[in-house]
Amino acid sequence: MVADTRFKPVVALVGRTNVGKSTLFNRLTRSRAALVANISGLTRDRHYGEGRVGEHPYIVVDTGGFEPVATRGILVEMARQTTQAIAESDVVIFLVDGREGINAHDHEIARLLRKSGQRVLLAVNKAEGMRHHADLAQFHELGLGEPHPISAAHGDGVSALADEALAPLLAERAAEQAAEDAAHPDAADEGAAGEGGAPDHRIKLAIAGRPNVGKSTLINTLVGEDRVIAYDLPGTTRDAIEIEFERGGRRYTLIDTAGLRRRGKVFETVEKFSVIKTLQAIEAANVVLLLIDAREGISDQDAHIAGFITEAGRALVVGLNKWDAVNREQREWVQREYDRKLRFLSFARVLNLSALKGQGVGPVLKAVEAAHAAAFAKLSTPKLTRVLRAAVEQQPPPRKGIFRPKMRYAHQGGQNPPRIIIHGNALDAVPDSYRRYLEGQFRDAFKLAGTPLSVEFKSSH
Ligand code: GDP
Ligand code: GDP
Repeated sequence: MVADTRFKPVVALVGRTNVGKSTLFNRLTRSRAALVANISGLTRDRHYGEGRVGEHPYIVVDTGGFEPVATRGILVEMARQTTQAIAESDVVIFLVDGREGINAHDHEIARLLRKSGQRVLLAVNKAEGMRHHADLAQFHELGLGEPHPISAAHGDGVSALADEALAPLLAERAAEQAAEDAAHPDAADEGAAGEGGAPDHRIKLAIAGRPNVGKSTLINTLVGEDRVIAYDLPGTTRDAIEIEFERGGRRYTLIDTAGLRRRGKVFETVEKFSVIKTLQAIEAANVVLLLIDAREGISDQDAHIAGFITEAGRALVVGLNKWDAVNREQREWVQREYDRKLRFLSFARVLNLSALKGQGVGPVLKAVEAAHAAAFAKLSTPKLTRVLRAAVEQQPPPRKGIFRPKMRYAHQGGQNPPRIIIHGNALDAVPDSYRRYLEGQFRDAFKLAGTPLSVEFKSSH
């Protein structure tokens, strides 16, 4: 059997402060806004987003800032993260300011980029109204090939730049996919969902969490007791490492976020924590198990990773790990911390476990299974519409001016996460609080625990 997990390609935006990185980031990731806006309780991270070239999604990383000459404190940290992002990306877009021209910082960054060996596209931003040939010539000096004039603010040249950045990666992927399909003609059937809302295909599970929470310990506990086939997928480092195992008659594919490598029978984390790999694995999974170290409480980094998971719309189970090592007082404290800092995860089940002792692992997998079933539930139009009507009767949507929103029917627009699309008139005026009310009604009626839910409105006029 073949693994079909491809990580999305990663584009890193690099450049000194004020050249227009976040403006370009916003323009590239705009396509994603619609879905994001409809899932409640997101913590937005402005550094990581999703863009699209045609049908093909990719991850955009805004490296924020880059002060390569810094020697101390936060700037060093930024430089370290930027260096890591460059190393882990598939292509870099290096922005310079077409109005200010090149300065010493640009030269320094260019030197680092040339040394990195990564593919780099040089973008000259703020180029609206520039007299191309004359003004662009100076940027050849950076030794990074042909400068691409763009205006991130106005959009000129941006999609051509994205196309050029992604084209070789997409072509490579298409070729790999074709070769794989030719080698395994039956593999295409693998992903087919079962009938009646009970998907019978394997659960793609990512175990996410910051360093040292117990990810590799849990993976060893899980796969140690079962038949296991591990894949180090051939080819590029971009591809996921997958570990297959069976448990209670279910087949799981673990997607590595931890930089795992196998030593004999045991898996070990060999790489340092990578936001990009975590993000890619979350996106490639159907369900994410977020592990938290119960001894440490809830950190900003935990909340951050949780935000990525909801943003990606993935089903989620939260595991408070190392439960064997916390006393009663600490247990109460961590529950309170959880309620305070991760309130936006109210849809997810939270379970205590000890990966080390193998305690609580069975219930965690049961919750994963339930979350997966909810994420792939089939919601029939008649039942959705019945639930909608009952909800509206119980509490009608508020008027806006002379308009009373009218909701006619609902149908399912997608899975993982389930998308419920409500049709009617004057729905633009429906406030978010009412959308959340409906979301709760659908969630209860269909027992959709463990997955985010997207409720969207479509007005006919
Ligand atoms: P960052 O620090 O690299 O993320 O830069 P920002 O995206 O915050 O942009 C810095 C400034 O440049 C802001 O005032 C933007 O409005 C402006 N800016 C960004 N892109 C363009 C552009 O294409 N043309 C012009 N004229 N200004 C731009
Ligand atoms: P990772 O970086 O998330 O993969 O974390 P590891 O699996 O390497 O675990 C980090 C440390 O926590 C190791 O020393 C583990 O033995 C320990 N650890 C993991 N799970 C548990 C647990 O359930 N209880 C206790 N007491 N320690 C654990």
